Amino acid sequence: MISNMQTIYDFSLAKAEEMLAGHGQKSYRAKQLYSWLYRKRVLSFEEMSDLPAALIQELSSEYSIMPVTLLDKQVARDRTAKYLFELSDGATIETVLMRFNFGNSVCVSSQVGCNMGCAFCASGLLKKQRDLTAGEMVGQIMYIQKELDAAGERVDNVVVMGTGEPFDNYDNVIDFCSVINSDHGLSIGARHITISTCGVVPKIRAFAQGHYQYNLAISLHAPNDELRRELMPIDRAYPLNELMDALKDYSEDNHRRLTFEYILLKGVNDSDEDAKQLADLIRGMNAYVNLIPYNEVDENGFKTTDERAALRFYDVIMKNGVKATLRSKHGDDIDAACGQLRARHERNRQ
Ligand code: SAH
Repeated sequence: MISNMQTIYDFSLAKAEEMLAGHGQKSYRAKQLYSWLYRKRVLSFEEMSDLPAALIQELSSEYSIMPVTLLDKQVARDRTAKYLFELSDGATIETVLMRFNFGNSVCVSSQVGCNMGCAFCASGLLKKQRDLTAGEMVGQIMYIQKELDAAGERVDNVVVMGTGEPFDNYDNVIDFCSVINSDHGLSIGARHITISTCGVVPKIRAFAQGHYQYNLAISLHAPNDELRRELMPIDRAYPLNELMDALKDYSEDNHRRLTFEYILLKGVNDSDEDAKQLADLIRGMNAYVNLIPYNEVDENGFKTTDERAALRFYDVIMKNGVKATLRSKHGDDIDAACGQLRARHERNRQ
């Protein structure tokens, strides 16, 4: 059973300094705290031997450290690992560890369930219960980092692509990124952190104004409003012209390359005409398209585009002047689709 106290992982360095000032401490204490939490990775305040005893007492009575406990873990043949975690209020979330030749990537959830209602996605099978705090996202990384410590490995890359819409939980996601990015903590480079959004335009604009160095990925999945609206309800609130305008402003202001994610759905969005429209939409932007094989979900009937058709789609995009990558499948012998493991667990609970 985990305590229901607030986790100390919630605090960005700036907020930790403020909190510790409230305990009469100088600002260097926040750096000491960060070093214990994220460098030595201790799980109790008692071990923080260079902090004053009284402060250790105060912190222990107000805060917990690790906010997640493991309920289930599945490991695929390609070593992709899926974790089902329980939070202090009993809510469950999924996190995925992917082993690439360029390092270990962790995919974190940003909400408990999701309200975006994308037709193909298993996460939306369970409506949003609540936002995750920054610390609950940090906890997903720290749990896995502690496991990797045993093998002398580290979390190299982080993608906010698990359950939830990060830009529907903007402030906590930005705090989360700041914690894992901090030079005094895990020090995961901003260019190794990617936030993926289904297209919440006002938050894309806020993100652009923040001039953050994190990568931005956009779940596009359709090259026109007619189709996109069927697949992704967010398109009704923010149609493609508004989305593309915000993205052009972002990439011009920030000189950053954008990633467009495009799941290939058989007979739905994978025709030559779709590929041409997609290229027309993106050509000229500092961006590329990441074509993603669809992980089939029993509940909705969408099928994956077969490999030959996927290659053809890729060719049409490239010939029309837009860069693309065709991603290979990972972990398809486990419940790897977003929200699948959790959905199955919650069904079994009822
Ligand atoms: N809400 C955010 C982040 C979470 S979804 C977003 O929409 O970007 C992360 C990515 O996984 C999105 O591109 C989403 O469309 C995709 N996805 C969802 N279900 C999938 C499935 N069954 N197979 C492959 N990709 C999926």
